[in-house]
Amino acid sequence: MPGTSTTEVDCVKCQTTYEADVIEHIDLSEERDMIRALRTGKVNRVQCPKCRKVMYLDRSVVINFEPDNLIVVYDPNATSPRAKSQFEEEFRNVTSFDENLSEVAEDTDFRVISDLDELKQLLKEYKKTYL
Ligand SMILES: [Zn+2]
Repeated sequence: MPGTSTTEVDCVKCQTTYEADVIEHIDLSEERDMIRALRTGKVNRVQCPKCRKVMYLDRSVVINFEPDNLIVVYDPNATSPRAKSQFEEEFRNVTSFDENLSEVAEDTDFRVISDLDELKQLLKEYKKTYL
């Protein structure tokens, strides 16, 4: 199961506020069916319970390219070098608290991607290698 959390969404059509489950973390070795959604940029699809308006949320998703030692944060809004380095800092902060995680972090390539084409390329290589 992908890692999810609940968030509040404001419908762009009827302004209703509703709660929706959003995907925050995907492990590709276990969630192969998510590759398609990732490639089309449609991971977080939500639907308004009142007017049925479908929206795709611009949220960051952490993608684990297991068994490759690669972790990608895909965030369409992290286009500036500053936004990207913030994610990298967060990653380092989180992993530095835990000895096991720090070891993992040392061997892991951590990348922040805002460009969907770049993500598509990585997914294509992953599919070619493991699927
Ligand atoms: Zn609505």
